[in-house]
Amino acid sequence: MRVSRIFIPTLREIPSEAETVSHQLMLRAGLVRKLASGIYSLLPMGFRTFKKIEKIIREEMNKTGAQELLMSAVLPAEFYQASGRWQAFGSEMFRFKDRNGRDFCLEPTHEEIFTETVKEIRSYKSLPLTLYQIQTKYRDERRPRFGVMRAREFVMKDAYSFDRDNDGLDESYKKMHNAYCKTFDRCGLDYIVVDADTGAMGGSGSQEFMVISEIGEAEIAYCDNCGFAANVEKAECIAENSDEKSPIEECCCLVETPDVKTIDDLTEFFGCSSKKFAKTLIYKADNKIIAAMVRGDREVNETKLQNYLGCINLELADPETVMKVTNAEVGFAGPVGLINIDIIVDLEVACMSNFIVGANNTGYHIKNVNIEKDFKPSGIMDIRNIIQGDKCSKCNGTIKIAHGIEVGHIFKLGTKYSNALNCIYLDENGKEKPMVMGCYGIGINRTMAAIIEQNHDKDGIIWPVSVAPYHVIVIPVNYAQEDQMKASEKIYNELKAAGIEAILDDRKERPGVKFKDADLIGIPIRITVGRKIGENIVEFKMRDSSDVMELDVKEAIDLVKKVIKSHDCPNE
Ligand code: ATP
Ligand code: MG
Repeated sequence: MRVSRIFIPTLREIPSEAETVSHQLMLRAGLVRKLASGIYSLLPMGFRTFKKIEKIIREEMNKTGAQELLMSAVLPAEFYQASGRWQAFGSEMFRFKDRNGRDFCLEPTHEEIFTETVKEIRSYKSLPLTLYQIQTKYRDERRPRFGVMRAREFVMKDAYSFDRDNDGLDESYKKMHNAYCKTFDRCGLDYIVVDADTGAMGGSGSQEFMVISEIGEAEIAYCDNCGFAANVEKAECIAENSDEKSPIEECCCLVETPDVKTIDDLTEFFGCSSKKFAKTLIYKADNKIIAAMVRGDREVNETKLQNYLGCINLELADPETVMKVTNAEVGFAGPVGLINIDIIVDLEVACMSNFIVGANNTGYHIKNVNIEKDFKPSGIMDIRNIIQGDKCSKCNGTIKIAHGIEVGHIFKLGTKYSNALNCIYLDENGKEKPMVMGCYGIGINRTMAAIIEQNHDKDGIIWPVSVAPYHVIVIPVNYAQEDQMKASEKIYNELKAAGIEAILDDRKERPGVKFKDADLIGIPIRITVGRKIGENIVEFKMRDSSDVMELDVKEAIDLVKKVIKSHDCPNE
């Protein structure tokens, strides 16, 4: 392709709406354009890279024996109603009615429909089976951001495995895990695999593929000592028994604490550490009100709490509800005298003695409170967020926290969907059994953005060869000069004839402009045809290095072939 003919609307200025490097560069290099919040078009250069990632994924999926198909993006409500997710998806689901008033949605994910489709299988002989598709998903995200990273329309490769039993699921899951590692390796990503929450989806195990990045919205807890890594939502905390259990005080007592609301105010007022306080938060869990207690300096982990409660929705109660259940303003809730509601206490609070809590009375706290003596918890559980410096639950090492971009997710679903949708098979003895399922997703647009996030410099994108929109750009310094024009045309044609994806910058621009554009769009190899072409010499430069080599034309073309061959590019 000739640069003069390609539709690459590059931008010189950094678009003000773009906060992240990948978003800025995708706009500046003319890869995408925004149509509405979280809705983007892929322009030709972006689409080429998108297709390459898709091809790599397809190749790795096919190698596992998974079969590709394509489901509709418009789906009737009843399948989601059967699994309970018509409600659970809440406002993240795009819904509409057809002309007859029947409910439909633009699907956010396809577990129900694959389960429904695979139901036709009756015999154990047809299992295991893994199906996948590469298809557009719709999620009306609360906060679309960072361009295609968190979009409302995006393309996902989603795969679903169906096995006879848990051992079969383990096998299918392992195959997908390995295929994901190969896929992300081939995309040139540096990633880690972390344990993830199985949450409302049910299931027995789940891992996320995380690209470590400052802008990542997921928080990862990891331990350098033993290699443990988990999403913060999931990472298990151990009770830090820091409080040398002092003898339990006979009575707790009410203390007037006017204008003291925050934990900082309290530590100042009582002159003790925030570890002496336990905060009580009032939540609405579906239609039930509950209280959750964590140490004063900790945060409630709502995922853990939600899993414990088994509810679909969990949110902090509004001030009116707090007033109704505690008789006090927000900030003064406490467990003592809180009757008729469940109190779930974090493991760490359970190790504390003589601590301070809200008094359920605006402007008052109670000190010297002790569990069992002063109130009875309905459950003692790990319900707090892990933080940097905590002890690792596996090895007692020290936990660190990093941010990650979740590019892929694999999940042992078990029988949740097969039970809900009656996806059963007959085993060797003619006995009916639910199929055991797994599901596996990769976001293609997000993967593309993550690659840029990890592969760029101040001048632009540095595409890994395997996913670059084109491999080589041939730049004549002066296209008007006949010898340069002829030689660059010849090199370009030879590269194309050898099956190499090359572009020729045939514009009558200054060389500086051409180099700038080539750097911005990130083509991995640059061949510059200048004055030395009289001696049959060109410049060879890789985008990821500042070295410039002078080679004769044949050497340069051979080196291009060698570089491309050394990368695991998708097959055409
Ligand atoms: P997140 O926690 O980031 O919202 P998720 O847990 O909802 O992700 P999954 O349902 O597991 O994501 O989807 C599988 C993959 O689809 C993710 O790993 C990610 O690569 C991609 N993905 C999910 N939501 C979006 C989105 N809004 N925009 C772009 N890609 C997405
Ligand atoms: Mg999500």
